[in-house]
Amino acid sequence: MQELRDTAGPRTVAVVGAGPGGLAAARELERAGHRVTVLEEQATVAGKCQSVHVDGRAYDLGGHICTNRYERIARLLTETGLETERTSRYRVLDTDGRAVRQSMEFLRDGALQRYRALREREFPRIAEPGLAHSAPALAAPVTEWLAEHELTSMADSFGTGYTAAGYGHLDEDIPALYFVKYVEMTGLLDPGPELRGHPGDFTVMGGFGSLWRRVAEELKDVRCGVRVTSVVRGADGVRVCTDSGPVEADDLVLAVTPDRILPALDATAEERDLAARIRSNAYRTTLADASGLPEDAFYFLAGHTASRASAGHCVSYHHRYPDSDTRTFYSYGRPDDATALLRGDVTALGGRLGEVRLRREWAFMPHFGGDDLRDGALDRLDALQGRNRTFHVGALPAFELVECAVAHAQDLARRHFPPVRGTLTRQDHRPATIEEEPQT
Ligand SMILES: Cc1cc2nc3c(=O)[nH]c(=O)nc-3n(C[C@H](O)[C@H](O)[C@H](O)COP(=O)(O)OP(=O)(O)OC[C@H]3O[C@@H](n4cnc5c(N)ncnc54)[C@H](O)[C@@H]3O)c2cc1C
Repeated sequence: MQELRDTAGPRTVAVVGAGPGGLAAARELERAGHRVTVLEEQATVAGKCQSVHVDGRAYDLGGHICTNRYERIARLLTETGLETERTSRYRVLDTDGRAVRQSMEFLRDGALQRYRALREREFPRIAEPGLAHSAPALAAPVTEWLAEHELTSMADSFGTGYTAAGYGHLDEDIPALYFVKYVEMTGLLDPGPELRGHPGDFTVMGGFGSLWRRVAEELKDVRCGVRVTSVVRGADGVRVCTDSGPVEADDLVLAVTPDRILPALDATAEERDLAARIRSNAYRTTLADASGLPEDAFYFLAGHTASRASAGHCVSYHHRYPDSDTRTFYSYGRPDDATALLRGDVTALGGRLGEVRLRREWAFMPHFGGDDLRDGALDRLDALQGRNRTFHVGALPAFELVECAVAHAQDLARRHFPPVRGTLTRQDHRPATIEEEPQT
């Protein structure tokens, strides 16, 4: 049974994880008059939205592309006073560097109309924050589901971008839920608003990491480089022990994937069972110099996105600054010979790989398999919200996109932590000290 919490006065809340989900929840809680401590194990905030600077230019290692569905992020950018710019155009290449035409057949062959009718009938809430509401209708493997509903042309149009973005190859058995959520969030199915004056996709000038640094600076207590060693939850509150001292709070927001915090958590059998079912994709970003490649766009490599047999090879690369040879390359897997593989891919494209500046490995897209979705894993996760003084936000309940993680976290905070009576809208913020983005 869900515990009744006294919400008349301010609550103290420990938030573990300073990615977009954790920071969005913390910001919402503080604005409602609650007292928040954010604990982050990395030296800096932003999670999978980190940027680095090379020769004065910002390179995003993870999340940064915002579509016309990113209303919460657009609002956050306006409120934090950051500038935005259009993203690079998208292009598809074959593995030997030839341009490939992206099929838009689904607009002409009736698939879009069939999809819209199906959406209205079976998963009308897909655009709302969270995933649990649509999981029962979309638990089947994606290719099976698309074929069953005569929507295969959607795979031709969206599959390359989906795989290039880290969500897996369509010939794996990933449930249709995740593909459908991704497709919805591209904003290409339905007309959407122009956000921040951009007719298409946009991003943050100077790097997406700057948004999360700005959000963190406005919070009162953000602690980076802190290792959580144990979490004990009891009738009187939550005690989070860290390598730099304990934090006592009324409530706990876990803005990390549950399997990451499990070793430190006084987990219940239900929490352990759910955590054991979480899967994720091994995905990586390589920041490297390369010459002789097609330039000035975000390139998806059709030959390496078509089948999981190509896992390990480069699936996409981004050339953001016309006057620089530095690019971000994206691939799956954890091969020993990652640089050799990338060098081979760049050579096949007609280029030459130069200095590899850094590599980041991600446990990308925490998700449940089809059987677990059918058995209600996401409903079970939802049922844990508020139990044992604990709340879960982040990509697992929301989907691995910034807008999804933020919208879900904001709504959860608003639902469970009403504003403290007399809370001022403008708060007396003491800026936290947030470590600068790394230079390479
Ligand atoms: C290469 C790449 C490209 C992407 N591109 C896009 C894009 O263009 N558009 C888009 O919308 N999204 C994109 N994403 C996805 C987006 O970045 C994520 O969905 C988003 O960052 C999820 O936010 P989160 O807060 O749930 O998790 P995270 O960003 O993963 O943050 C979790 C935080 O928790 C911390 N943490 C973990 N364990 C602990 C612990 N035990 N104690 C303390 N702290 C802990 C981590 O260090 C991290 O800072 C991309 C991601 C990657 C990797």
